Order: sequence, then C-alpha cells, then structure tokens
Amino acid sequence: MSEAKSDSEACRCPYCDAEMEKPDPICKACALTIVVCPICGKPLREELRECPECGTPRT
Ligand SMILES: [Zn+2]
Ligand SMILES: [Zn+2]
Repeated sequence: MSEAKSDSEACRCPYCDAEMEKPDPICKACALTIVVCPICGKPLREELRECPECGTPRT
C-alpha cells in the first residue's frame, strides 16, 4: 500500500491525449517528455507553473 493511486485512469499526454507509460511518461506521438506532478501524478504541460489539479508549484 505505497501508492494510493492504482485506478484505471491512464497517464495521458496533456498535448495530444495519447496514452503514456509510467514511470517514464514520454509521449510517443509528440516525442515529448511529459512533466508529471509529484503530488497527484497528473501530467502537466510544460508552460504551466503549477499543477492545475492540486496547485503544487513546479520546481
Ligand atoms: Zn502527445
Ligand atoms: Zn498535482
């Protein structure tokens, strides 16, 4: 029970919505490495300063 998140929600590219594989969220369609929120695990667009889901500022 280390991770609370084990639901079926896939990690999706915030740009093109393609599915990505954790723990290395690299979108094969965009060829971009997607930044993932360390708190909630949501993929973030690079231009965002903070997570839209939980408000955690990016480091
Ligand atoms: Zn993509
Ligand atoms: Zn977050």
